[in-house]
Amino acid sequence: MSEQVQNLSLMGYVRRILPFSSVDGPGNRTIIFLQGCSFRCGYCHNPETIALGSVLSTDEVSLRSPEDVVQEVLKYRLFISGVTISGGECTLQPEFLLDLVKALKKENFNVLIDTNGDFDQAFYERIRPWVDGFMLDVKSVNPEAHKELTGEDNQRVLENLNRMAQDRTLCEVRTVIVPEWLDNTHTVSYVSKVLAAHAPETRYKLIRFRPHGVVAQFKGKTMPNHTEMEKLEKIALDAGLKQVILV
Ligand code: SF4
Repeated sequence: MSEQVQNLSLMGYVRRILPFSSVDGPGNRTIIFLQGCSFRCGYCHNPETIALGSVLSTDEVSLRSPEDVVQEVLKYRLFISGVTISGGECTLQPEFLLDLVKALKKENFNVLIDTNGDFDQAFYERIRPWVDGFMLDVKSVNPEAHKELTGEDNQRVLENLNRMAQDRTLCEVRTVIVPEWLDNTHTVSYVSKVLAAHAPETRYKLIRFRPHGVVAQFKGKTMPNHTEMEKLEKIALDAGLKQVILV
């Protein structure tokens, strides 16, 4: 590891800590949700995690040190196989995230980063030696559609997808399937080819869009049917992926 564990004093905005989850990485895991997100996805089911800064209510978000967070996670140690740090987008607080990861590794936890991929390669180089893997959302490979959905460009997401696949640091990739709006075939085909070329064992999760609890613009959109999902699953399997999961 290239950086030393020292001076772990930075504070970060933590939304909540979920003691146990079996759907956020392999095994039973504790999930740490950091506050703040760089995207504004129309289908976000956790919009309360997006804001970061002066609009925060102290009742819902706490400013905590890495050591304080680790002390809470240690209470669950006997029952979990690891910790997943999620959001919002956890890399929006990069220095706190780095210190938190180092503090967790000091206690020998398996640590995964759940991310929308919107961070630069320099940060990837810094955090990569400290984590056991990444869980990455790829929302759309079409730049215009991505911007319309999230408010932001997808260039860094795709750079990270390619780099993580080459480095085999991906634990899981997810794409939410929204019929008649996103070019799902293009995105699933692109992601599958990248993964198949470098890390075909990576789990690729295709998640049905669900209209409840989303912003008004997305309320009228329909869920993909079984046939559409199976067609996308076939594209991923035909590309050579070993684990394709429909959710
Ligand atoms: S990246 Fe995730 S948390 Fe952020 S707005 Fe999109 S769906 Fe919500």
